[in-house]
Amino acid sequence: MVTLIRGAEIFAPEPLGVRDILVEGSRIAHIGEVDPAGIAALPGAQVIDASGLTACPGFIDPHVHITGGGGEGGYATRTPEIAVTDIIRSGVTTVVGCLGTDSVTRTHAGLLAKARGLEEEGITAFVYTGSYQLPARTITGSVVDDIVLIDRVIGAGEIAVSERRSFQPTIEALADIVSQCHVGGLLSGKAGITHFHVGSHESRLAPLHRLLDDYPIAPPAVYATHITRDEELLADAVALAAKGAFVDMTAGASTVESVRRYVELGGDLDRLTLSSDANGSLPRFDAQGRLIDLTVADQSTLFEQVWACAESSGLSLSQVLALVTANTADALKLSRKGRIAPRHDADLLLFDEGRTFRHGFAMGHQTISYGRLQVRGTFDAAPSQTTRSQSPPGRSGRD
Ligand code: ZN
Repeated sequence: MVTLIRGAEIFAPEPLGVRDILVEGSRIAHIGEVDPAGIAALPGAQVIDASGLTACPGFIDPHVHITGGGGEGGYATRTPEIAVTDIIRSGVTTVVGCLGTDSVTRTHAGLLAKARGLEEEGITAFVYTGSYQLPARTITGSVVDDIVLIDRVIGAGEIAVSERRSFQPTIEALADIVSQCHVGGLLSGKAGITHFHVGSHESRLAPLHRLLDDYPIAPPAVYATHITRDEELLADAVALAAKGAFVDMTAGASTVESVRRYVELGGDLDRLTLSSDANGSLPRFDAQGRLIDLTVADQSTLFEQVWACAESSGLSLSQVLALVTANTADALKLSRKGRIAPRHDADLLLFDEGRTFRHGFAMGHQTISYGRLQVRGTFDAAPSQTTRSQSPPGRSGRD
């Protein structure tokens, strides 16, 4: 299967100018000038005129509750699974799935099955073992074994610190899981990263600073998310990134301002990523810990905030795209992801001046063609089949 994408302005994410991209199978074969006549003569080859369009790598979302999350307000507040179409529509071609507060009714077996399902549906999906609480729940009984023996497991997360919903782990327990991940990563050639959920307690990132200051832990093994809760936490994240750790902002209404502030505070842009937290719950608690309300995070927020940052964060388009492509690939050690370069996976987006996706590719397969989704999730029914009226009485249409 060969596709020639002609004349797109390429942000790889660094600007490469107007060039052709040749895709062979699931990989990018060549970037430069390619003779279209030679390609068109190949059986099954496709030539796409991308003049006037901008090409960038498919987005990598390092924090998605692919099987849903939540439950902090009781069983009825467990959030739904994600659909592959929601992911693709938002420009995302690689996700890392995680559990959250609930690792009792949500399991890693389910998470792994969902990740494999998303791969069958056309995108790349990894998972973290563990959840908010330590000791970590795993598939095999061991964090190291999960990483070494299970193909999709690339680390542990989201492990909660400075958070009421954690089991208040000791620093030793945190050092233990980061070290297990590190060793698992060495033995398997994967990231072996530990992804930390940072809660709203005033201790903020202090536990992670102590890990880096007091233990022989390589800073890039630590990856902290939800760093935009307040100004002090953001400043703390700048300090953590200065030590070499990766930090991640959950996309939301304040993302543009947070990115701008991160830069003003001298934050290392190469260590910063954006994620969606999609299908996780967004609970609000009062000072007594009572749930005030709870909503569900949406994959599309990441997509919206990328463009909002490109408009008004003060960063260049290339710098903004790096937050959801090259930087995330570096954090997760996904050496074939996050860049438009020869031998990299053909995860590509082509968008027009209005920042609408005209074409999309995941592992060389076309996911969006002339603005239309080419992928359908297994249970994405035709609209007439999703109406509530066709469900049996007394049941919702969402089994
Ligand atoms: Zn979280």
